[in-house]
Amino acid sequence: MSKKGKPIDPPKGISTILPEDQKYYRYILKKAEAIFDYYGFERIDAGILESSDVFTRTMTADSDEEKELFSFKTKNSEYLALKYDNQVSVAQAYINNGMNSRPHPVKLFYVSSSFRNIEGRRQTLEMGVETIGDDSEIIDAELIFMAHKLIESMSIGEYSAYVNSMGESSCRPAYIRALKDYFKNKSKKLCSACRDNLKTNPLKILNCQVETCKEVNKEVPQTVDYLCDECHVHFKHTLEYLDEVGVPYILNPILIRGREYHTRTAFDFISDANPELAPVIQGGRHDRLIDTLGGSRTPAAGWTMNLDQIVTALKEKQASVPDGKIKPKIFLIQLGEMAKKKSLILFENFRKAGIEAKSSLGRDSIKSQLRIAHRLGVKFALIFGQKEALDNTMIVREINTGVQETIPVEKIIEEIKKKLKT
Ligand SMILES: [Zn+2]
Ligand SMILES: [Zn+2]
Repeated sequence: MSKKGKPIDPPKGISTILPEDQKYYRYILKKAEAIFDYYGFERIDAGILESSDVFTRTMTADSDEEKELFSFKTKNSEYLALKYDNQVSVAQAYINNGMNSRPHPVKLFYVSSSFRNIEGRRQTLEMGVETIGDDSEIIDAELIFMAHKLIESMSIGEYSAYVNSMGESSCRPAYIRALKDYFKNKSKKLCSACRDNLKTNPLKILNCQVETCKEVNKEVPQTVDYLCDECHVHFKHTLEYLDEVGVPYILNPILIRGREYHTRTAFDFISDANPELAPVIQGGRHDRLIDTLGGSRTPAAGWTMNLDQIVTALKEKQASVPDGKIKPKIFLIQLGEMAKKKSLILFENFRKAGIEAKSSLGRDSIKSQLRIAHRLGVKFALIFGQKEALDNTMIVREINTGVQETIPVEKIIEEIKKKLKT
């Protein structure tokens, strides 16, 4: 037995999705699955725990990202961590399950929480897609197109795609040199985290949200000016495909992902009405992720959607989201000990027959049960009392007219089906 005491405070930044909010998540998933199915993406559910190494390996060396990892040592001296990054977990699952032997590209989607020990939200429910094993531009365009279509299919307002290319390992060093040169005389204006990043990973400065850093970032060199020919062509073709399918986009010349495995295309979907809000979708190419994790070199691209943010937007827009609840046609009223005993199996028989029924087996008064039947708007109340239980009959009462009829239990399914048809 546990000790009694005051209620225990929930951990900060961890939230519960209550029953009344489930309809929003169901709605988003339904919209998304229709698109994912059509484009050939299959669901994958990677485990919630990984070896800590999986995540630390993908982090930038000398960064303080490791502090954000929820990691622990088990009693068998394994070092495990809560899923820090869904994209990384999917790549790891691809490697662990020998998915490289499948026809490529392998197209996957996921719905899962990620966990980061940071201020504010520590658990984020995300949904995302990954296309593994194809580095062609049309894949980048398809991913952006799908994200655009998904947002369009939900009533959450207008969002724009901000797009950039950050090159890859052969052209990025030149850009990083240019960045270092640019920031050299301006390091006093940067926040302390950015001053540290200047030495280790200057790309991260571009994502800093501190006002003074944002100011310095305004005139920073643009990645596209430092792309090698191949990366340049890749970006140009990606944009041409987007033009072709009519996805509007805005070029953001300093849109960058801070990890070394990220390559080429990067994109964010940002609200037109509230552009200062965090992107609802972040995506791009990460051709070096799988080999960073120890797999053979395999290109990959994808995006991640923040589901909680979409739900907030749906609520703000007061979008009409179906609650998905079954509307019952009949209500089973039971009275007395004997009837109650037989009710459980009777109720199950309606389910098996495909008749949407409700009951309130915990209640004993006919009045309160009738009230519920009225509130639910069922067509018929089925009254099963002491006398009926003895006779093996039921009283079928039409709610609107109050007309009643007694029917033998063995014929009840058949009779109700008939009555519901008319
Ligand atoms: Zn900064
Ligand atoms: Zn390049």
